[in-house]
Amino acid sequence: PVVVPAADEDKVVRSPYSDVELPECNLADFVWKNVHQWPDNIAMICGMTGRQYTYDMAYGMSRKFGSAMIRMGAKKGDVFAMVVPNIPEFPIAFLGAVGVGLTPTTMNPTYRPEEIARQLENSQARFIITIGLFLPNIRQACEIYSGIEKIIVLGMEEKPADCASFIEMLIYDDGSLYDQDRSCDPHNDLAALPYSSGTTGPPKGVSLTHFNMVSNLVQLLHPQVNNLRECNPTSKSNQEITVAVLPFFHIYAMTAIMNLGLHLGAKIITLPKFEPEAYLKALVTYKPTFLHLVPPLVSFLSTNPAVKAQHLASLEAVIGGAAPFGPALIEKLMEKCKPNVVNFREGFGMTESSPVSHVQPEENAVLGGCGHPIPNTLAKIVDLETGVALGPNEDGELLVAGPQVMKGYFKNKKATNKTIVDGWLRTGDIAKFDETGQFMIVDRLKELIKVKGLQVAPSELEDLIRRHEGVNDVAVVGVPDERSGELPRAYVVRKNRNVLEQDIIDFVAERVAPHKKLGAGVMFVETLPKNQTGKILRRELKAQVFKGSFGY
Ligand code: AMP
Repeated sequence: PVVVPAADEDKVVRSPYSDVELPECNLADFVWKNVHQWPDNIAMICGMTGRQYTYDMAYGMSRKFGSAMIRMGAKKGDVFAMVVPNIPEFPIAFLGAVGVGLTPTTMNPTYRPEEIARQLENSQARFIITIGLFLPNIRQACEIYSGIEKIIVLGMEEKPADCASFIEMLIYDDGSLYDQDRSCDPHNDLAALPYSSGTTGPPKGVSLTHFNMVSNLVQLLHPQVNNLRECNPTSKSNQEITVAVLPFFHIYAMTAIMNLGLHLGAKIITLPKFEPEAYLKALVTYKPTFLHLVPPLVSFLSTNPAVKAQHLASLEAVIGGAAPFGPALIEKLMEKCKPNVVNFREGFGMTESSPVSHVQPEENAVLGGCGHPIPNTLAKIVDLETGVALGPNEDGELLVAGPQVMKGYFKNKKATNKTIVDGWLRTGDIAKFDETGQFMIVDRLKELIKVKGLQVAPSELEDLIRRHEGVNDVAVVGVPDERSGELPRAYVVRKNRNVLEQDIIDFVAERVAPHKKLGAGVMFVETLPKNQTGKILRRELKAQVFKGSFGY
């Protein structure tokens, strides 16, 4: 709960929507709440193989998986790492683990072994699940971090002797331990531990409680916020259908597609990665009624000549988030959908708020804005220097408060105290609101770089580049890019002129997931702008980049 000083009362923007009641329960129980109403409807289909599960099957498998984890020795509160792309078994494993009180920590499956090991170490994970393709990376990560007791592999015909098999766990478990201990302390027990760099520094575990994540689902279900139908148990015809290419390991798809979709009884077609042909084929084959998108996907759908009106003919709603959308891009997409009329809504959120805090209204949405605070949510804009709350149409840092705001950073009080101040979450984004209480993101104050909606923490890349023997100093910033939104670029003070741009690009590429590569290259500089304490002045550097006055 936040305290709003009387002087700030007219500067705090409240949700225009009525408050919703917030259930206090386990996240998996909430997601599966209505599953008995539509047992025979399809829950998930693999867009690559056609492998599919009904709701009855998915729920049953999920219970057995949770039970088998307990049988294997997992205990409530244990961290369960997931290195799994979007496949139908992702939600089954995720919700099975959550249901028995384990905490999934999800990561990008393209992470290199050192990146995986870092998250395993930081989260103190005890178990890990992956697919055969990534097993060699997991094994290397486990050489660095020795705390993993069991690796569980999904979908391997012949599983290695030292690993557990997901399928065998389901075959040999009767599910009886799932209900053994249903106690849950929703305000303290963690339902998920995704990683985010927040406003500064390396990625940190974001402690999302069951209450945080259930609250965000209930907030999104408010009739004036939600534009998705709940499945009608007596008729399959109104089942919502979506093609899920945004990764479930990131909070946006985890909450808005996986958890919300399954709660509503939707049919979710999973695609493990974005490939234009497979994506377009899935659109034609499965005829989605709604899609969650990030700017590069909107750009692909609206400008790629291979995309025709027929691919978009079944669409009723498009929901955008995770990065800024230009209004022109949205208009292009709407144009391409014609004569089909599609409802587009942009939302704003971050991992630290489970993630959604703002959604555009159904009518009279401000173009390019991210709308109103959702139910039970407060927002304000504060002056960057003084922290004083500002009125309409003034730029400042956006702060939000509500039941979806994380408990804190995992075992990191210092970072938590800097980020949550008097109950307000500092977003690190610069925004403003208008007289109607709609918000617009203007710029980013924090150092975070977003590539195709995914996080890249500059400090992580800087730490890595500093390990290169030819580098004296480095600063990494995001450079605007039409396709990816932003791309990382390194400004390097080199030891001598024998160090080449390509050396550093390759050095990084070998050690990080593809989206963290130095896509905007390397610039060699004499010095880096720093303050008196030696902190890199990234915004100054960025400003110089924009002026074109930096680098040689
Ligand atoms: P993440 O925690 O990975 O979801 O990243 C959160 C950050 O993504 C926010 O703090 C913003 O910088 C950015 N972001 C999310 N949604 C939007 C949006 N609708 N418009 C602009 N930036 C956004």
